[in-house]
Amino acid sequence: MKRFKIAVLAGDGIGPEIMAEAKKVMMAVKSNFNIYWTFNEQLIGGASYDKFGTPLTDDVLDEVFRSDAVLLGAVGGPKWEAIEYDLRPERALLKLRKELQLFANLRPAKIFDSLISASTLKSEVIEGVDIMVVRELTGGMYFGEPKGIEALPNGTERGFNTMVYTTDEIERIAVVAFEVAKMRGEKLCSVDKANVLEASELWRKVVTNVSADYPEVELSHMYVDNCAMQLIRNPKQFGVIVTENTFGDILSDEAAMLTGSIGMLGSASLGPNRNRAMYEPIHGSAPDIAGQNIANPIGMILSTAMMLRYSFNLDRAAVIIENAVEAVLKKGLRTKDIMYEEAEGVREVTCSEMGDAVVEELVRILSTIEPDTEDQSAKFAPDAREL
Ligand code: NAD
Repeated sequence: MKRFKIAVLAGDGIGPEIMAEAKKVMMAVKSNFNIYWTFNEQLIGGASYDKFGTPLTDDVLDEVFRSDAVLLGAVGGPKWEAIEYDLRPERALLKLRKELQLFANLRPAKIFDSLISASTLKSEVIEGVDIMVVRELTGGMYFGEPKGIEALPNGTERGFNTMVYTTDEIERIAVVAFEVAKMRGEKLCSVDKANVLEASELWRKVVTNVSADYPEVELSHMYVDNCAMQLIRNPKQFGVIVTENTFGDILSDEAAMLTGSIGMLGSASLGPNRNRAMYEPIHGSAPDIAGQNIANPIGMILSTAMMLRYSFNLDRAAVIIENAVEAVLKKGLRTKDIMYEEAEGVREVTCSEMGDAVVEELVRILSTIEPDTEDQSAKFAPDAREL
């Protein structure tokens, strides 16, 4: 029996609605994979502020440290926009990322065949796209010192930031990216601006050095401006992309939007060891549709698949969840946000109906396969290297 304690932080807006569906999915896979889940449900964001006056209490942080992984819905909303900056719901996320040292952000951009028409690109360009962007999350220009705005003698001002990376910071994100590429059996493209920036020059050198440990992964390098263009021109050329914080912020949004839908994608943020990881959909708390049972739970459900894969090495369970989602879309079920076409067999469903349909499909798939008794408790490789 594999026992996993999950910190379940549903948060605000649609967070609790989509989290309920993700939990149904996790319960549906547990018997076949011999899992015993403990859900440790805690308040975060605006919900925590309303009750405790802070978006993340120390008690919740302690619970997070005692858990094997964190599942997060979303935080924020207009209700909390006017409060002091340090107490805003979004500060809870930054604190969690910092405390857990979540330095690697994995953002997939996968197009589901049934939703090709949702993309703004031509179907022949987008069909089969399945990219993973690995973004460095705790270094680079967003955190580099010195930074600030200072007054100049001529009465104007000067704003400045510093893009800075150390060998260790680059090495650890490169290892995660190579491991992900190895797991997916794909090539790795490292994106930088080494023709202009010294920080990128070091980035390229260190990534190349790390590649010596991964002869099975084909490494290429690309300048960030070219990558932004290539993602639109021919996204299928990419498997895994690894890049620094600022470039990753922009490119991962660009890649995600190739798929045409914000409600469909999950993400993982990984720290230096196995029980330092957080999984969440890429979208926010969608206050405009909260409480109506019309949100799309798929991004949240696919985040749980990522958790099974990257925190618990249960790749087979993750694939089965992904296949169940694909099957439900193929059947024509759509939440409001992905209701693009009026075709025969295509029908609109609620958030909970979508969750139920995924569970139903999961149960059907699981009934056709042998229960998994194999011990897959080996850790995701970056942890094994004790970074
Ligand atoms: P958003 O992602 O919440 O919503 C953007 C649009 O997408 C809205 O029209 C929304 O209805 C729709 N949408 C998002 N997720 C959906 C889903 N699962 N199903 C159907 N439709 C969906 O972004 P926003 O409106 O800019 O931000 C709203 C709040 O969320 C803000 O307070 C913001 O700070 C916060 N936010 C939180 C996170 C997070 O918790 N990680 C991320 C981004 C924004």
